Amino acid sequence: MEYKSFIGGAWHETSDSTPNVNPSDTSDILGHAAVGGADDMARAIDAASGAAAQWAKSTPQQRFDVLDFIGSEILARKAELGELLSREEGKTLPEGIGEAARAGQIFKFFAGETLRQTGDILASVRPGIGVDVTRSPVGVVGLITPWNFPIAIPAWKIAPALAFGNAVVLKPAELVPGCAHALADIISRSGLPEGVFNLVFGRGSVVGPELIGSNKVNAISFTGSVGTGRAIAADCGKLLKKVQLEMGGKNPMVVLDDADLDIAVDVSVNGAYFSTGQRCTASSRLIVTEGIHDKFVAAVEERLNNLNVGHALRKETHIGPVVDEKQLQQDLDYVDIAAKDGGKVIGGQRLNRDTEGFFMAPALVTETTNDMRINREEVFGPVASVVRVKDYDEALAVANDTEFGLSSGVCTTSLKHASHFKANAEAGMVMVNLPTAGVDYHVPFGGTKGSSFGSREQGTYAAEFYTTVKTAYTLP
Ligand code: ADP
Repeated sequence: MEYKSFIGGAWHETSDSTPNVNPSDTSDILGHAAVGGADDMARAIDAASGAAAQWAKSTPQQRFDVLDFIGSEILARKAELGELLSREEGKTLPEGIGEAARAGQIFKFFAGETLRQTGDILASVRPGIGVDVTRSPVGVVGLITPWNFPIAIPAWKIAPALAFGNAVVLKPAELVPGCAHALADIISRSGLPEGVFNLVFGRGSVVGPELIGSNKVNAISFTGSVGTGRAIAADCGKLLKKVQLEMGGKNPMVVLDDADLDIAVDVSVNGAYFSTGQRCTASSRLIVTEGIHDKFVAAVEERLNNLNVGHALRKETHIGPVVDEKQLQQDLDYVDIAAKDGGKVIGGQRLNRDTEGFFMAPALVTETTNDMRINREEVFGPVASVVRVKDYDEALAVANDTEFGLSSGVCTTSLKHASHFKANAEAGMVMVNLPTAGVDYHVPFGGTKGSSFGSREQGTYAAEFYTTVKTAYTLP
């Protein structure tokens, strides 16, 4: 399979290509992806810029038809797309199919939103004047996406971008070209006018700056690492370009003495280790009050012993591989660092399976304090640490003692503590007796502090980023 860039309505050859490797089995090469250069990106931007005005004038019905077509096809093909996703990214097949379905649902949701675009009519404070507030498209939007949700994240940026009348240039992550290509293929048959959607493969450091620096690109939505996000924000700031960032997390899961132990263990294991811990909403700090601490650690350890790590496509697998060798080394390094800093490590070693892949036993690091590196920096792997605390007040303080603020959870049967936590957790998303990861597609997603920047993604709140507000005054 050749994954080509899609520019101005045509598939685009490049001389250079890179293999798409299955992290569960490195002998399985799914295909080869084009490695585009700055000139390819410039061409895609020109195509988007040339098509933007026409799409901005499209009717809600035209937009609905396009988005509904894309959503319907993704949903009809969710098993096949989910398998492709699991094969190239390494999450388990049920997780892959679930993500594909979610991408379809997102397109369906925004298809509906095209028919619900409203504005406000207000009375002016001055006599005889009418005021109306409407939303217009932003223009050309550049979308930069990571590898960990290879179809859902592009979907939750592309769908609102198109729904609100913008032209798109998508730059997906290098490790997951298959899902981006499949999405572009579906979009290419959706009836969308040529040039409104463009896909450019290539290295972030090469094609990214062209996208961010172009004066024809009006806004950038980025999901990825903190370092890249901060650099992009600085560049956009200099250019006064609208920017939206979703970056890392160091998400706490607080377990209180009065928690239901089974729920607490389920929620923590799911949040910390499912999808191989490669979710920005993963629970990486388990903050546990002293009355339940020992029981909780023993129960999590027992659960981890019963989780199968293996090939993402096998039925018996609970946790697939890490995405690549570099990420696996980073995960193993953090386990070493945690041990050297005084943590007690359970699991966390590289595993061999009957295929060559990037397998790692889930790691639980106990006896940690919140100032250790393992509790300050995002690992992005199947690694979680336990911080023992005295009571709820200390748990909340430790949960909030982080530069991040994406998702924050509490397990408790106390309404008082749950209500207080919802009000006082410094995070964009709060979960009570639920994993920190795993969210609905029709409500806002995003964080506070160092996790996010700009307006929220998803749900009706996505309008904020993908439109510009206009206030008009009329004296009839
Ligand atoms: P990760 O470490 O999770 O891969 P990155 O922030 O490196 O996170 O990557 C997220 C996305 O940002 C990818 O699509 C990547 O290609 C892109 N990217 C990386 N460097 C740059 C850059 N300098 N400018 C724009 N995009 C970039």
